[in-house]
Amino acid sequence: MMFSQLTESLESTLKNLRGQGTLTEENVADSLREVRRAFLEADVSFNVTRDFVKAVKEKAMGSEVLTSVTPGQQIVKIIHDELVQVMGGETKEIALSGKPPVGIMMVGLQGSGKTTFAAKISLYLRSKRKKKPLLVAADVYRPAAIKQLQVLGKSIGIPVYDEGEGNPVEIIQHGYEYAEKNGFDVVIYDTAGRLQIDEKLMQELEQAREAVHPEEILFVADAMIGQEAVNVAQTFFERLNFTGVCLSKMDGDARGGAALSIKKITGVPICFIGVGEKPNEIDLFHPDRMASRILG
Ligand code: GDP
Repeated sequence: MMFSQLTESLESTLKNLRGQGTLTEENVADSLREVRRAFLEADVSFNVTRDFVKAVKEKAMGSEVLTSVTPGQQIVKIIHDELVQVMGGETKEIALSGKPPVGIMMVGLQGSGKTTFAAKISLYLRSKRKKKPLLVAADVYRPAAIKQLQVLGKSIGIPVYDEGEGNPVEIIQHGYEYAEKNGFDVVIYDTAGRLQIDEKLMQELEQAREAVHPEEILFVADAMIGQEAVNVAQTFFERLNFTGVCLSKMDGDARGGAALSIKKITGVPICFIGVGEKPNEIDLFHPDRMASRILG
């Protein structure tokens, strides 16, 4: 499971802290060095790790904590709360308050999990938020993607709008109009991604955004890709100002730290996690639950 390595490498440090009846500033500094090492090993970015440790240190070193009856437990709580903050604090729900059909545009690199997430989110919104979603197949550069979305849509009974391999901006525009005419209240656009960030593709995504003004632009990141994910996220954010992050493949044993850095670096919350290949294998991201899981 994701983050299991981080959990494991923090285990003895936290156990040690929890068990301490008295602590000196030196003890705290030693423990935080261990936390720092565990974060870096789990692929949390250098800057995010540094800021995290600094924030915990500032809160933990005060005499109020050190002279309390349970200093170790208080420090573990400080670490927990700071981790919740790094991961975004509150759970983000998809905004659905705009004029229907409300648009959700999926963006990210090829293979990140966009097509799968498009289907998962449509199913989620239908079952949990009582919506009537339309899927739009605009990933025209990966022909298998259109078929894949049709198969997924069919398996969950959600209609898919497609025009084969046309102009993606037009397909998105037409998909929106189709949703509007046919009483769909949510329209989810699956867009193309390349293996690397590519100028033509970014321009197309910008044009598509201008054409339909989606309420949400969701950046999909593969939890397995490590540090690289942070740079990719930053570039997509500069161009598209995405409004939410979806992390796929959280069921794998990725170290996961890069995923944590994305929120901190872009300021955009993680809203969904993918925990398997099937359309129902999606969860809302809860920073507090995730922090508790990581800290054991
Ligand atoms: P796209 O190119 O961004 O549209 O990526 P896809 O949606 O096609 O996903 C790429 C591969 O990852 C596919 O084989 C998916 O079945 C798989 N995948 C997507 N999300 C998850 C997930 O949460 N867990 C697992 N185990 N596999 C996933």
